[in-house]
Amino acid sequence: MGFLNYNAVNYRMNKPNILFWDIETAPIVATTWTLYPKAISHKNIQQDWYIICGAWKWAGKPAVQAAKIDKPLKDKELCKKLRDVIAKADIIVHHNGNRFDLKKLNARLIFHGLAPLPMIPTVDTLKEVKKVAAFTSNRLDYLAKILTGTGKLDAPYELWLDIMKGSKAALATTVAYCKEDVNCLERVYNYLLPYMNSHPHVGVISGQVRDESCPKCGSKNLKFNGVRVSAAGIKKQEVQCGNCHSYSRIKFK
Ligand SMILES: [Zn+2]
Repeated sequence: MGFLNYNAVNYRMNKPNILFWDIETAPIVATTWTLYPKAISHKNIQQDWYIICGAWKWAGKPAVQAAKIDKPLKDKELCKKLRDVIAKADIIVHHNGNRFDLKKLNARLIFHGLAPLPMIPTVDTLKEVKKVAAFTSNRLDYLAKILTGTGKLDAPYELWLDIMKGSKAALATTVAYCKEDVNCLERVYNYLLPYMNSHPHVGVISGQVRDESCPKCGSKNLKFNGVRVSAAGIKKQEVQCGNCHSYSRIKFK
């Protein structure tokens, strides 16, 4: 199983900027008259959620970086910082980020009247794993544990309460958790990559010819693996990447 320890980045001529990222948000504080509410109205909100911190890592670089709020509720500068970091990426990778992280950040950017993010291609590892595999759980913690031996760090409930009260120590702990989540994300991404059905074309982003480079890692080490015929009856040449072992299809000649 040669692909398990591969490092896709080594094979890129002009490395695309692939960003792994994750955010943490404060919970919504709301009033309720029962422990089993059917729904809680927005009128019951005492304090809405906001972003506490974000962490990110560039593929091929060892450091995980992070940014955090200075005070409870005040996430405008943090949102700006996260937007400016993400804007430098060619591809952004997140777990459930198409539904959560990216949309939460967008909500706060809109709320603060800030300019939007550019339209950067995304890879959502939750979406991708669901397409091709039936693991017991699709949670990042579970996947990281069974694939790499190390899962996420567990944040106790009190931590969120302390952050909302302004505890710097609690905030620092959460930032550490968030950074570890980003490490988990990258490791899980590397496992899933050869199995992903869709991925922004790393070869083309690296400045190579589309049909001569691997869409997943950009390697030019492609081996022919016969011809496949699509449901529509179109012939395609199948190739396998010698680096990440992904299969892809190129124009039949
Ligand atoms: Zn490849």
